[in-house]
Amino acid sequence: MNTPLRTPNVGKSALFNRLTGTKRAIVYDQPGVTRDRMYIRAFWGDTEFMMVDTGGLESLPGSPEDAPSVDTVGGFEILPGMVESQAALAVNEAAALIMVCDGQKGLTNADEEIYGWIRKYHSKKPLLLAVNKCESTTKGEEQVLDFWSLGGPTPLAVSAISGTGTGELLDGLVAALPPPSPEDLDPSWKDEEGDGPLKVAIIGRPNVGKSSLLNQLAGDARSIVSDYSGTTRDTIDSDVIGADGKKYTLIDTAGIRRRTSVAASKDAPESLAVGRALQAMRRADVVVLVIDAEEGPSQQDFVLSERAAVQEGCALVLCVNKWDRIDKDTYSMNEYTKTLRSKLRVFEWASVVYTSALTGQRVQKVLQAAAEASVHHRKRLSTATLNSVIQEATLWKSPPSKAGRKGRVYYVTQASTRPPTFVFFVNDPKLFPDTYKRYMERSLRDNIGFPGSPIRILWRGKG
Ligand code: GDP
Repeated sequence: MNTPLRTPNVGKSALFNRLTGTKRAIVYDQPGVTRDRMYIRAFWGDTEFMMVDTGGLESLPGSPEDAPSVDTVGGFEILPGMVESQAALAVNEAAALIMVCDGQKGLTNADEEIYGWIRKYHSKKPLLLAVNKCESTTKGEEQVLDFWSLGGPTPLAVSAISGTGTGELLDGLVAALPPPSPEDLDPSWKDEEGDGPLKVAIIGRPNVGKSSLLNQLAGDARSIVSDYSGTTRDTIDSDVIGADGKKYTLIDTAGIRRRTSVAASKDAPESLAVGRALQAMRRADVVVLVIDAEEGPSQQDFVLSERAAVQEGCALVLCVNKWDRIDKDTYSMNEYTKTLRSKLRVFEWASVVYTSALTGQRVQKVLQAAAEASVHHRKRLSTATLNSVIQEATLWKSPPSKAGRKGRVYYVTQASTRPPTFVFFVNDPKLFPDTYKRYMERSLRDNIGFPGSPIRILWRGKG
């Protein structure tokens, strides 16, 4: 992981967006929370990494030991100094750091302090020094001169706005990164057969009943083996045996070890838990998003599902909990599912289960749905089946023409599983508008299925 570090207004967030090629995939609407850590999966060449945007350092947090324990940060409360603490935590976790300075302002005392702090506590981590706001290539070189006096790494002239120098910065970053550990790898690279237990992450907002659900599942199980490491992973794994006799590893993200002093309050910003949920998702095959039946899905649930399915490529189960509290005359499961699917439209394919973690009703369905989704998540199709579906789809609706050129699909192949990933070899991907791309995805789903699993489609041009 890499952490841009800054003093305010140096353009760190703009640089983060530029380096990750995003426009802030996640926007929090609660004041103060925008300064939480932000994680984005990014690529440069064939290297994939997770980039973390911190709220920046307005005052220095001290030694790594002064950073709060992860339990405290998971307490969903913004405490004084939390912004700094978040940054300190991100720095602790990171494999490399990018310190961002303002090239128009020149070297400041704050820059020197931050650099001194990094030298003192994080000298072993590769550090890159990005001097931002150097739009002008001629002046840019002058702007960086100042920063040599830090005595640190070579200052690189960059511009988040124009993109100048960001390629060199990413080259330097990728060269400095240690080789990835298996856990850092993309889920789609996981061993296809995966004969270990199915890894299921239970995520969701505070108080929706995640811990209760987990306790029910673990309580039902004939054997419980817990293996956790609270220092490097902010999650707890419990191996449980489901009603089907199979072993499942449940990855819990919150609740179990929550400290009473910072107990989650319903109104507290839940986004502080996003980092934790993300860690869990990255290790999971299937994500179970727990939703409070009475409250329905929130914006945060949408964001978490998107992250799980789109970025992490996990299968998705929506667990509507506290179903015991719903007046069944008002809502039937069917009606509820319809409303839920319309609210989380892009995840219409996700499986939905209704539970009461209080009474234990249908909790086993969660594992059953996870197992079913996982079958589709690992599904591999023959090229012949795939191409007959696509051929049919192009016959029904041919790709539109653009400036006299017509889009052509030559053939399609499945590149990987978990999630199923298809490569469409075409004459020119630009000839296929998003609507047509969505039509192709729908055709695949309608004909082949994949309930519970996201699918990915890559469009490749000739040559
Ligand atoms: P977490 O923060 O998501 O782990 O939520 P907890 O498991 O701590 O549950 C929060 C509160 O909701 C507790 O008071 C639980 O007893 C209650 N709760 C959890 N699941 C259910 C359920 O299915 N029905 C009802 N009525 N209450 C539940």
